[in-house]
Amino acid sequence: MQLLRDAIPDLPLLTGLSAVECDTLARLALVFIDGKSFVRVDGESLQDADAVTLALQAALPVLGLGAAALEGWREVILYPDAFVVRDEWLDRAGLAHEGEQVLLGQARQDGPLILSLPDALDSALLDGWNVVIHEMAHKLDMLDGDANGCPPLHKGMDRGAWAHDWQSAYDGFCRQVDDGCASWLDAYASENPAEFFAVLSESFFETPHWLKADYPALYVHLSAFYLQDTAARLPVLPLSLQLSGHDRQEL
Ligand SMILES: [Zn+2]
Repeated sequence: MQLLRDAIPDLPLLTGLSAVECDTLARLALVFIDGKSFVRVDGESLQDADAVTLALQAALPVLGLGAAALEGWREVILYPDAFVVRDEWLDRAGLAHEGEQVLLGQARQDGPLILSLPDALDSALLDGWNVVIHEMAHKLDMLDGDANGCPPLHKGMDRGAWAHDWQSAYDGFCRQVDDGCASWLDAYASENPAEFFAVLSESFFETPHWLKADYPALYVHLSAFYLQDTAARLPVLPLSLQLSGHDRQEL
């Protein structure tokens, strides 16, 4: 527990958390470490420091949700690099595709969380890109069935307003991508509504001021869902920082 608490100041992603939030995050990260089984496919054992960096990032999206949001799956599979999966997926036109994909992360329904370990460890910076947050957002989205961009909402949240605001923002972003307009938001977010939710969740936890400026309604929805006000605790980052050269290979 103390190892987890002591590591928090070293991770830029966790800037601005209060002492109480740091204690809660460390407790949730411990639940994550104790409750999951970590498998390195290269046969090496996971270093304590790496487990700590992984767990603190995985716990951040559930900081307001509690440990129950981590339940329902057990395995974290760690690759030494990007990995290839044979998969089927739908594009946003609804067309089915099948083939091999090179990924940095994947969240399976009721199954493992799969990550490229070096990319997961690199994610704790504050640059708008985070494969751990991305896959955890899918895991939370999957708590009520297939990932569709709408996780189970809390009592009092307006499902109609959520659906309307997300659909309208998604449609607008897809038009922007089709028109070739540049944006700080990666075009990968236009793949489908589930990816839009996961990529915007990354922004919520790393670059909330960009999100709040361009998608104010979605910031409010994400803040109500994650029960966190990230813009209040994180610094405003220059837009020139966007994506810092990461290739997006996630599902
Ligand atoms: Zn994804």
